[in-house]
Amino acid sequence: MTPMPDKLTSSEPASAAATEVPQAASAARKIYPIVKYGDPILERAGAPVKKFDAELEQLVEDMFASMYGAQGVGLAAPQIGKSLRLAVVDVTGGKNPEAKIVLANPEIVHAEGEVREEEGCLSIPGFRGYVLRPQFVTIKAQNAKGEAFEIRGENLLARAFCHEIDHLNGILFLQHLSMLKRDLIKRKIKKLRKQGEW
Ligand SMILES: [Zn+2]
Repeated sequence: MTPMPDKLTSSEPASAAATEVPQAASAARKIYPIVKYGDPILERAGAPVKKFDAELEQLVEDMFASMYGAQGVGLAAPQIGKSLRLAVVDVTGGKNPEAKIVLANPEIVHAEGEVREEEGCLSIPGFRGYVLRPQFVTIKAQNAKGEAFEIRGENLLARAFCHEIDHLNGILFLQHLSMLKRDLIKRKIKKLRKQGEW
């Protein structure tokens, strides 16, 4: 998911936020290209994560680095071409290492309230739309070591959890928009693709 710029940079000058290179994006990390809308992997449900080994831990760190590199606040494995139920979220954009959340096999166990807010997606760059999401969600998931945990998110964090879990089910935010808005975006993407710009 892409951040809401006004909210993410409210405590710092926009220029500082834009040029900052988060610590986590170290030179050793692999930066994956982000799969764009149109690739069928984005509309397929991912397979459960079963092996929690060193390879998975490396993949998770590479996903964080790829997400920070693309200035996102959430990234799901299908977005880097891996059809797995795995996502990373950091609504601080790399500013707080404690805000890094790994979601392996996540499920929503409780949702409450409603918030209509604009959101975007790293796989659909340049397009945003208003999506109704729960204000609070509690999810259960496993971390990179396979340990089960529960976490509650509010507002942007709740939205990021829902957006990423949607990805693991092959659902994009476009599917939550009105048919009119969705078709408009799809037409524009089709045009971009014809021009070789997508
Ligand atoms: Zn997305």
